Amino acid sequence: MGRYIMALDQGTTSSRTLIFNSEGDIVSSSQQEFKQIYPRPGWVEHDPEQIWTSQLQTIREALDRANLKAGDISAIGIANQRETMVLWDRRTDKPIYNAIVWQCRRTANFCKELQEEGFDTKLREKTGLVTDAYFSGTKLKWVLDHVPGARRDAEKGHLAFGTIDSWLVNRLSGGKAHVTDYSNASRTLLYNIHDLRWDDEILRRFGIPPSLLPEVVPSSHPAAFTDLKILDATIPIAGIAGDQQAALFGQCCFDPGMVKTTYGTGCFMLMNTGQEAKPSESGLLTTIAWGMGGEITYALEGSTFIAGALIQWLRDELKLIRSAEESEQLASMVEDSNGVYIVPAFVGLGAPHWDPHARGAILGLTRGVNRSHLVRAAIESIAFQTKEVVDCMVHDSGLGLTELRVDGGAAANNLLCQFQADLLGIPIRRPKVLESTALGAAYLAGLAVGFWGNREEISANWTMGREFIPRMSEDRRRKLVMGWERAVDRSKSWVSPEQEG
Ligand code: ADP
Repeated sequence: MGRYIMALDQGTTSSRTLIFNSEGDIVSSSQQEFKQIYPRPGWVEHDPEQIWTSQLQTIREALDRANLKAGDISAIGIANQRETMVLWDRRTDKPIYNAIVWQCRRTANFCKELQEEGFDTKLREKTGLVTDAYFSGTKLKWVLDHVPGARRDAEKGHLAFGTIDSWLVNRLSGGKAHVTDYSNASRTLLYNIHDLRWDDEILRRFGIPPSLLPEVVPSSHPAAFTDLKILDATIPIAGIAGDQQAALFGQCCFDPGMVKTTYGTGCFMLMNTGQEAKPSESGLLTTIAWGMGGEITYALEGSTFIAGALIQWLRDELKLIRSAEESEQLASMVEDSNGVYIVPAFVGLGAPHWDPHARGAILGLTRGVNRSHLVRAAIESIAFQTKEVVDCMVHDSGLGLTELRVDGGAAANNLLCQFQADLLGIPIRRPKVLESTALGAAYLAGLAVGFWGNREEISANWTMGREFIPRMSEDRRRKLVMGWERAVDRSKSWVSPEQEG
């Protein structure tokens, strides 16, 4: 057995490969960006061949950089951008159209149609998701409807559908495997997360031939092997999960009630809810975290659209800061935001408000407000939004929260982490290794091949970088939250649907 685990972190803007040792430390990494294709306003595509070649190049480069051979790798784990889909021809293994990316809005009208006929209720019950163009099933239907000959070929069984994990496994295995894992299947809008099967009724309504669909395999399981034409060793591909679920696993949130927050451009929160799929009353998603050892673990998921992006906006548009890091330094120069609130509803508000017509607002300005106060208010807004989603999770799950584990670019901001702890009244724990997504994919793969014995062994690897203990008084927290709620109210229903076009 090799001494290392390889993780492929296939993201929206770049493909990365990281190699880990048994302590969960990074021994090598490589990254390559690829092209974003915007054929029309609101449409986003990737070239699947470029996803594959960029991924393969980073695999080779990561091995070279650590002076390793493929034979040194025990297993490969994949964490992928979720909901992005590819349709390829089984006879040639060539894609028949570009990958349609999760951000792409081209199927919004079909989603509206589904809502108008009330099918969205059924979709929510069966898949745990809301009926939105974000998910991959409607994108698959679009390709079948718009690419000449696609539907005919699909009906003859010539085509294969996959999210990016399926696509990479297919290529890595030299075209042999056509699989996906439970977590990725649960993001298609086609998979029944309770019965654990592709749902016939949904497939009929979408007009999707079942022969297109991959076999759904456990997230931690030797699902396929690399082909010798690709790498000079036969390595099991033994871990697969969507990136956010992989991060939950990488943060070792193995017990019900454990939550991780990734503070990136936006903010993604997932709560492990154990073996129970908890329906949400607050508009959160119910989804599969992972399936392994004959057991399915479910999660509640919520996201905020704008988090680190607000810091970028301060830097690039307002030019209040020169770098994202400088935001902490400036904000630390003042005790508080001096009564200022920024509601970053640049693209409307998500959970729990769900107001697409809300717009960004800065409230509470007085003559004494300076640059530091504004920057501080921006950082605080990320924490306020996170608190709202976490409160929804606690409410919907009925599970208490004892800590919040954080990662992502903006988790580097100590002031943000401290304010988050103060708002939630629980410790914020930031791990030493912030690569939770890749680490999660590595853990899933390593567990499947016995590289790690069990989850306890992995949990022991989770090393705290820093802990933030709440120290704000209850009274002050209450006042701040009340102020935030009033600010959010002012930002709501700002544009009328007509103005939005
Ligand atoms: P993504 O994966 O979404 O591209 P990352 O996890 O790489 O995002 O994080 C990048 C985001 O984090 C950017 O929006 C940036 O503004 C923000 N960010 C990075 N460092 C800091 C910091 N020290 N304080 C606040 N925000 C930060």
